[in-house]
Amino acid sequence: MKTKDMGFSTKLIHAGFDGDPSGCVNVPIYQSSTFAFRDTDHGAALFSGEEEGFIYTRLGNPTIQTLEKNVAELENGFNGIATGSGLGAISTVFMALLSQGKHLVSTASVYGPSRGMVEKHLCRFGVEGTFIDTSNLDQVESAIRDETELIYVETPANPSMSVTDIRAISEIAHSKNCLMVVDNTFASPYLQKPLDLGADVVVHSMTKFINGHADIVGGMIVAKDEVVYRRIRPLMTDFGCNMDPHQAFLVLRGLKTLAIRIDRAQQSAMQIARWLEAHPKVEWVRYLGLPSHPQYDLIQQQMSGFGSMISFELKGGIEAGRNLMNSVKVATLAVSLGGVESLIEHPSSMTHAGMKRDDRLAAGISDGLVRYSVGIENVEDLLNDLDQAFTNV
Ligand SMILES: *Cc1c(COP(=O)(O)O)cnc(C)c1O
Repeated sequence: MKTKDMGFSTKLIHAGFDGDPSGCVNVPIYQSSTFAFRDTDHGAALFSGEEEGFIYTRLGNPTIQTLEKNVAELENGFNGIATGSGLGAISTVFMALLSQGKHLVSTASVYGPSRGMVEKHLCRFGVEGTFIDTSNLDQVESAIRDETELIYVETPANPSMSVTDIRAISEIAHSKNCLMVVDNTFASPYLQKPLDLGADVVVHSMTKFINGHADIVGGMIVAKDEVVYRRIRPLMTDFGCNMDPHQAFLVLRGLKTLAIRIDRAQQSAMQIARWLEAHPKVEWVRYLGLPSHPQYDLIQQQMSGFGSMISFELKGGIEAGRNLMNSVKVATLAVSLGGVESLIEHPSSMTHAGMKRDDRLAAGISDGLVRYSVGIENVEDLLNDLDQAFTNV
């Protein structure tokens, strides 16, 4: 089906799938490691690229390809590259677009392990990173050096909820001959389309909103143009960061409801954020949909919704936060986010424990910050749950 000019939800259901010879309504799980050639000429033509087709699942697979085409269309990109995890997508992009002696500029509160990849591993190969507040354009301009090749931005950032102006940074990046990459995990293509705003590449942890059911780990890279796509794809296949067909099938299944899941979750998140903001035991709340967010105007320009992630801190700081997290019964104490189930966690001792405390504080992650990923349960139950948990604070 040609869905290019159709609405977002139609693309979620149909993009990337051109029907199946057996009449399957959904792409089947092509659980095969290798694909038969008609004859030696056919095999040679596939290897030389003269003919399109499947050779070996690490290089490409019909189920995985359907997912790649679907997400590429959602992001308005040239094509997608599926990976075994979100970090597989990020490491593939870094390995493809950075070389020895080169430099990257990134968001200070970027997903902890994305920063660790540069500071603990790529540094051994002569690649350096500078992590700054990318919501401040002056800091971005002054962090760029002659060796800078890549600007890697996470917006909204996790869990500070700070927002970076994608259009402005893309312009700065291109004026300095750098490529601009955005981790769009938090927003998903339903709420934000970085390639339309000037970015060159988008990466996703599909583990989160895109799959949305907390049952697989997966990643995706979408490049805006063919040249950049062709630079990145061989890194995925050569380093073996590929996705599995069964994993791809589950993501395709979860993806179909992305828009209705987010609509519902963000409606509840708004109610919960307002409730928290009015609560006497809460010190501060950071939610993209609250006018108290310092970048409320930019959020409304750049995004088409506010999402379902809330960060907050209690008046009693870390101790009070611990009591709250140990007392909730509907929300689950677990890392990850963006699923149908509500999850609560403590970034400074969990997802961001690998960062130095000073770096954490500089990135807006205070010791007492609690992160809440609002799911699609009945909002009354989520509010009652928080209410009963607060009696133990
Ligand atoms: C979870 C996450 C990742 C890493 O993805 P995995 O699928 O866990 O490898 C990267 N970026 C962001 C913003 C994330 O939330």
